[in-house]
Amino acid sequence: MNPEIIKKGDDSGNRMVVKYEGPDGTPIYGIGVPQAWASRLGPTWSYVFETDRLTVVDPGCYGTVDRFEQGLQVIGYSVASIGRVIVSHGHVDHDGNCHAVLSRNGAELWAHEVYGWLARLGRREIETDWRRTFPGYPAREDDTFSTRIREHERLISQLNVSNPVTDGQKANGLTFHYTPGHSPDELCIEYGNLLFSGDHILPQITPHPSISLSYSRFQQELPDPYKSGNRYYGLAVYLQSLKKMSGLGGGITVLPAHRAFYHGAFNPINLERTGEILEHHRERCGDLLTLVREGLSDLTAITRRHFAHIGLDDRMIFPAFTEVMSHMELLQEAGDVEMSAHGGGGVRWKGTEAFSRFIDSL
Ligand SMILES: [Zn+2]
Repeated sequence: MNPEIIKKGDDSGNRMVVKYEGPDGTPIYGIGVPQAWASRLGPTWSYVFETDRLTVVDPGCYGTVDRFEQGLQVIGYSVASIGRVIVSHGHVDHDGNCHAVLSRNGAELWAHEVYGWLARLGRREIETDWRRTFPGYPAREDDTFSTRIREHERLISQLNVSNPVTDGQKANGLTFHYTPGHSPDELCIEYGNLLFSGDHILPQITPHPSISLSYSRFQQELPDPYKSGNRYYGLAVYLQSLKKMSGLGGGITVLPAHRAFYHGAFNPINLERTGEILEHHRERCGDLLTLVREGLSDLTAITRRHFAHIGLDDRMIFPAFTEVMSHMELLQEAGDVEMSAHGGGGVRWKGTEAFSRFIDSL
């Protein structure tokens, strides 16, 4: 069911404020907090509600705290009245305003236990290291964007995660589900028949899977329980987490961090969306395997061919390339292709097509 509109925003939902109905009729407000830079993602939806204290899931993108605050004012709250901030995962469009919010009140910070570790270590370096091992990495990064990310990381590293959570933990009516894959610290948070899904389950779009190769750095830096094998990074991990959420049962309304409203319309979703996303990735694996079977071996060339219909510019090549890499890794795990030198030496078909069964077995 569509939420009630409390305040209209633009066609993408920027600056919009809406009201959903939570457990026992509690209002759950959604604030469309715009991104700090041009983006086709639409706003980050920050969810605000009262349990034992005023709680916010994802206060929005770094550099937009005034926008978040304006949304809060519409529903009669201030930043000072927030008692708990929950971070769905440590990406700048979700935890970006945490430092600005927490420096103005004594709120608790709840996040998956890995979030705090990565925040102290500087996660971007850990998660983008793999690119250096790839000699043909196609594009230079946008310097302005990198500078802002570094500023944000410096501030986030100073935060104290007062309440690190782990899978299955329950508190104040909330149940935390660990759903790594897009990000190694991703949480979906169940509240009555609602599920705050962060980026894990989105309408219209799907998040970029992470790269399982990132685990090689992560492994050395994190505490012992995380050192015994990769269950945190990569497309296969993401698909496993989708299956896990699909098992939560019927009747759940998913409240995503993006695209809840877009092009002038609401996009209500439930857990059936997990199946659609899984099939999308299965299809992409098939399309990429076809290109490899046709003899393309260079990952950059495969990326340009696969995304030829959208005409990749210099800025879009990085996410597109990462997307292709995550699917190639799954094809390699399934035994269908072999990448030499982490893909830098090219990719080769091994004569099988086992990826679909592999996905079913996850
Ligand atoms: Zn996001």
